[in-house]
Amino acid sequence: MKKANEMTIVEAARALRARAFTVRDLWNATRLVAKEKNDNIFAYLELFDTDDTAIDDAQKRIDTEGDKAPILCGIPIAVKDNILIKGKTASASSKMLENYKASYTATVIEKMRAEGALFLGRTNMDEFAMGSSTETSAFGKTKNPHDTNRVPGGSSGGSAAATSAHMTIASIGSDTGGSIRQPASLTGVVGLKPTYGAVSRYGLMAMGSSLDQVGPLTKTVDDSEILFKALRGRDEKDPTTIPDDLYPKREVNSTLRIGVPRAILEKGVDEDVLNRFNETLEALKLKGHTIVDVSLPTNAYALPIYYIIMPAEASTNFARYDGMRYGLSKHGKTLLDDYIKTRSEGFGPEVQRRILLGAFVLSSGYIDAYYRKAHSARSVLVDEFNNAFEKVDVIATPTSPSPAFRFGEKSNDPVAMYIEDIFTVTANLTGMPAISVPMKMVKRDEKPLPIGIQFTAPHQAEDVLFAVGRAVENTQLD
Ligand code: GLN
Repeated sequence: MKKANEMTIVEAARALRARAFTVRDLWNATRLVAKEKNDNIFAYLELFDTDDTAIDDAQKRIDTEGDKAPILCGIPIAVKDNILIKGKTASASSKMLENYKASYTATVIEKMRAEGALFLGRTNMDEFAMGSSTETSAFGKTKNPHDTNRVPGGSSGGSAAATSAHMTIASIGSDTGGSIRQPASLTGVVGLKPTYGAVSRYGLMAMGSSLDQVGPLTKTVDDSEILFKALRGRDEKDPTTIPDDLYPKREVNSTLRIGVPRAILEKGVDEDVLNRFNETLEALKLKGHTIVDVSLPTNAYALPIYYIIMPAEASTNFARYDGMRYGLSKHGKTLLDDYIKTRSEGFGPEVQRRILLGAFVLSSGYIDAYYRKAHSARSVLVDEFNNAFEKVDVIATPTSPSPAFRFGEKSNDPVAMYIEDIFTVTANLTGMPAISVPMKMVKRDEKPLPIGIQFTAPHQAEDVLFAVGRAVENTQLD
């Protein structure tokens, strides 16, 4: 039998109800493995102390309600360090917030807590969620459990590594341009970026406000669906959330039309990654799904559009870290000195780069040339996707062009790092949901490494993503 910490949410929930183990056993087993492995993997910045009351309450609920107890009851979950839990440190892996304690709790945490979920700890990430390798964390490198010489992806690299190495049952992260899906791809787990507005962002540290979403990193597609449904919902504290009555359950066809934008896959994708992708599509075709060519010409500009809009929004959001309100506070001779010292010492190089970029593209001389143009191009991209969805149910690409890379390989070349996001940023720009599901492995240095296939669906069509994701999982069993 699988060890408790190796189980999925579905398996652990079943075992708890069958009395194979208690909530405390599950917590202890998972926390112990997390602690033991963390010296090497460094998925967690902090493992939380055992909360006896929460454990006892969850057990009582399972004992009295049995199958009626929420499926997340008693399940340990890891949380990315940009999501607030009142009274606990929330650092976003930045020196700016190293000692910052959250003064309120994020809605996603409240929702999981209401179902009886337990929180294991806060996971490492790229500083303020900027990056694709978790190397920009101010507190150390998270290693890829499949090859510890390699990155776990980012920015939710800690959540991905923790899930992949069974240092948790599941975890949550945030995705502004791929930060759930790309690390999921590189560590071999399932990552979902929900529809913009599906999940409340109250208590998520804002980066690109028109792009950010919270979502699950899980061992299976079933678990992804469970967590998504627990997180989703209208929240009065986040006016961008979609009202519940506007989120109908979709009927999903048993065979799907899968769109493939061949033209954008021609360049820059590793050969074996492309082979795995084609094999996965072939396997889906054998199951009765149809593969359709789609054209998304503006996709070629998605990365430049993203790297204008995202820094613009981040530079605006980050004005709040001024050394006056909270977080790091350094003092110089004048007020301007205070700002400069605080922001120079508190922010790492990637964050500073994005703030400068963002301030530049919004400056009065350049806003028309960059920011406004990017905005127009973004709407063309949305139209192209909407047109493509007239004839297909989902659009497939590899999640990332290559498997996990070595530490240092891209950290001195920002553009090489940005290219990691080439297939993921579109879903954030269009607000559409997208999922990454593991395909068969590829090899680097004789070691098998995971790689994901990404599916994008129309707004609020997560159910279609879960269906196609399960179909991919089934082809892996053949
Ligand atoms: N890697 C992307 C970036 O650096 C995505 C970040 C994210 O989704 N938070 O912007």
